[in-house]
Amino acid sequence: MDTYARFPVALTRGKGVWVWDTNGDRYLDCVAGIAVCTLGHSDRRLRKVLSRQLGRLQHVSNLYRIPEQEQLAAAITAHSCFDRVFFCNSGAEANEAAIKLARKHAGLVRGISGADGRPPLILTAQASFHGRTLAAVTATGQPRYHQGFEPMVQGFRYFPYNDTAAFEALLAECEAEGPRVAAVLVEPLQGEGGVNPGDRGFFQRLRELCDQHRILLIFDEVQIGVGRSGRLWGYEQLGVEPDAFTLAKGLGGGIPIGALAVKQAVDHFRPGDHASTFGGNPFACRAGLTVLAEIERRDLLVHVQRMGEELEALLAGLVTRHPLLLAGQRGWGLLRGLVLSAEAPSAPEVVKAALAERLLLVPAGASVVRFVPPLTIKPKHLRLAVERLERALLSLA
Ligand code: PLP
Repeated sequence: MDTYARFPVALTRGKGVWVWDTNGDRYLDCVAGIAVCTLGHSDRRLRKVLSRQLGRLQHVSNLYRIPEQEQLAAAITAHSCFDRVFFCNSGAEANEAAIKLARKHAGLVRGISGADGRPPLILTAQASFHGRTLAAVTATGQPRYHQGFEPMVQGFRYFPYNDTAAFEALLAECEAEGPRVAAVLVEPLQGEGGVNPGDRGFFQRLRELCDQHRILLIFDEVQIGVGRSGRLWGYEQLGVEPDAFTLAKGLGGGIPIGALAVKQAVDHFRPGDHASTFGGNPFACRAGLTVLAEIERRDLLVHVQRMGEELEALLAGLVTRHPLLLAGQRGWGLLRGLVLSAEAPSAPEVVKAALAERLLLVPAGASVVRFVPPLTIKPKHLRLAVERLERALLSLA
């Protein structure tokens, strides 16, 4: 169906940070399937392990124990502040699970039944992005994604990101007549909404307020999680532990997988509450296990920190050379945004011009060009990417 405004390019082969189209033209990939291909394309280790898994077992039902799933849950909980994991297949699904958990939490912990016709509330940020299923798109604080699909799911209110006073005011309004708020669902760094890093002070205040009211604090780490920020998880950048977080994208390195991880104290799901046919199958979990193992084995977190600094310096140079076109750059690790000035062409125009220079980039809103390359990218690729981007900018100017 006609759901994407696609570029007229068909990609059929990839290796590392490179992809080739049907004409044999080679592109430097700073999109990585939008923050998915953690280890790059056609990674040798992932290929070998997954080929072996295909020869053993691809899928069995969650009616039975799945050792690969138990191992992946153990790997996530051993390296995070969480204790239990539910697996699904995508970011939107992981957020759906989180939203259901929030509603259960509202009833069990805060005594909000919703039976009086007043649903428990979930507070999310303006300019956020949480996915395209009906509840996840309602959680997404961007009205343009709601248009044409009303009525939206009940029980969502929005606050301006990183604005402590506005959040406090919204919370006070919602709680004026007693407990109403089930959860706050928020990205540690807003990806799609313009590469906006979370502010430590704001997030620390969120944590305090959620603790005071026993409101669930859930982080959507679908884009920033799994090493992309230079730390394994985005929450480590903020010095705040959420009660739960959601993952997808980079966890499978290109194999679809999503996850909701929670602390023991908010592990409210019981058999029958939630489920997924494909979620956590042996093949997808083997991919997740391999990605996490390779991040550790190749010391990729340190690598991402270095490459993030390198890219930051290269983009800062670009901003200095083109002050009329570029307003700045921001991000963490290998999730970075180049901010276009009001006089510059739009981000989609810049991305199109970069494609003509054989460089893949993705917009984050109308005025930010996003870099989300494989975590294995090297300095020479980053230099080449910024050279090609500069040529693309000059071609538009
Ligand atoms: N949450 C965040 C922060 C995202 O960036 C995305 C996708 O871009 C999603 C959720 C939705 O993930 P999916 O497309 O896998 O459903």
